[in-house]
Amino acid sequence: MEQGNECELLIVGGGPAGYAAALYGARASLDTVVLEQGMPGGQIATSDEIDNYPGIPHIGGAEIGQRMQEHAEEAGARTVYGMATAISPAEIGFSVQLGDRSITAGAVVAAMGATPRPGGFEGEDAFRGRGVSYCATCDGMFYRGKRVFVIGGGNTAVEEALYLSRIADRVTMVVRRDEFRASRGAVQRLGERGNIDVRLLTSIVRIEGQTFIERIAFRDNRTGEVSVEAFDPGSVGIFVATGQVPQTELVSGLVDLAPDGGIVTDDAMATRTPGLFAAGDIRSKGLRQVVTAAADGAIAATSAYRYLEGRL
Ligand SMILES: Cc1cc2nc3c(=O)[nH]c(=O)nc-3n(C[C@H](O)[C@H](O)[C@H](O)COP(=O)(O)OP(=O)(O)OC[C@H]3O[C@@H](n4cnc5c(N)ncnc54)[C@H](O)[C@@H]3O)c2cc1C
Repeated sequence: MEQGNECELLIVGGGPAGYAAALYGARASLDTVVLEQGMPGGQIATSDEIDNYPGIPHIGGAEIGQRMQEHAEEAGARTVYGMATAISPAEIGFSVQLGDRSITAGAVVAAMGATPRPGGFEGEDAFRGRGVSYCATCDGMFYRGKRVFVIGGGNTAVEEALYLSRIADRVTMVVRRDEFRASRGAVQRLGERGNIDVRLLTSIVRIEGQTFIERIAFRDNRTGEVSVEAFDPGSVGIFVATGQVPQTELVSGLVDLAPDGGIVTDDAMATRTPGLFAAGDIRSKGLRQVVTAAADGAIAATSAYRYLEGRL
């Protein structure tokens, strides 16, 4: 870090939540640092196109991430590259460890995001963004009039299937067990749509194709038998809806966690530890998107400013 190992506001994670927090922190004249372990932009940096951020249609994921970083830095925030390995309360504020050095900060925003739980089938990584998706709200539009499979049996998977049923021609839910984990009410709603069918005791084990998915291998979990179905290239998508894993390890002793694994905050994004705020996908929340992450970040930094002023 150029100006010593201290700052007023340290944001761990340079995704949309982190850089929105940095923008608001810097504009409030706080000495603001973003600590990022990889490429700024977070999850969105790996996405070809973001089409649902208000006012900025058809923008590349990497580009919007870069613009968020530039905007925050123009306002005076700094980025430090490195992975936080520990966050602990210090005499004043917090000490954040990265490698063999540490940064102390008056307040911290935890914005380390979440990672989608993988579906665990062969070919999953190779077809990510080319037929395999983890978010119907993000990518559903690319499957208008097409055939989609949704993997998972929880409430999230049912929500994804219902959302996709308004866009895709046909939606098939692929459920590993012999029943849904989702609530009965949610499952009943599936039956109200004419284009959703369900395959219980079934797993996708492999996908194959040239550029796009052309073959999907399904396993019958009762018999172990594997059968392969063929599709026209570009006509089919797989939505993995087996859950998100919020990256909370670094702060697990300082925060309360909700049943979905996310951090519990109040409306000010405050956690149960004074001076520690959480923003974005790392929180327990119903909609994990760029727009909600950015909103959380703005609120968290504003609350951190009030906290540092002794007004929160
Ligand atoms: C393929 C894909 C497509 C998507 N498409 C859309 C879309 O079209 N529209 C939309 O609104 N949303 C989309 N999303 C969801 C959106 O990307 C997330 O909701 C959003 O990025 C969450 O922002 P965040 O800042 O909370 O977390 P993240 O984006 O996850 O950022 C967290 C950052 O923290 C860093 N970090 C984690 N741990 C540490 C550590 N220990 N030390 C330092 N840095 C750390 C990570 O490297 C990462 O950069 C998509 C997600 C994916 C995966």
